[in-house]
Amino acid sequence: MLKKLCVVWGNATGAMAMQDKRIRRSKNKKQERLPVDESRLNMGNTYSSPPDYYYDIEFECKDCGKAEVWTAAQQKWWYEEAGGYFFATAVRCRDCRARERARKKDARAQAGHDTDT
Ligand SMILES: [Zn+2]
Repeated sequence: MLKKLCVVWGNATGAMAMQDKRIRRSKNKKQERLPVDESRLNMGNTYSSPPDYYYDIEFECKDCGKAEVWTAAQQKWWYEEAGGYFFATAVRCRDCRARERARKKDARAQAGHDTDT
């Protein structure tokens, strides 16, 4: 069973995010790389060290097979702002993620829980 890590995100996080440049719509012509801030990662129980930089990652959506790019900026946000587990990786395209979110929300509502969004 995975222990849920409790991470406290202070106000500094918001301020940092404001300083970030707007996410560029990289067509993956030029590889974008962003430095990894190791101190803000959710590494779970592993002791392996993360890479120094995030790079755009191309992947195929596990639901519809569409090719998508998970940009370095999105990864940085996911790992450092959203507190995503570091070894979790994008598996669905934007459309399927939205569908999946809606599906889970429905499931929760049907189970009698309040939605959390
Ligand atoms: Zn998809």
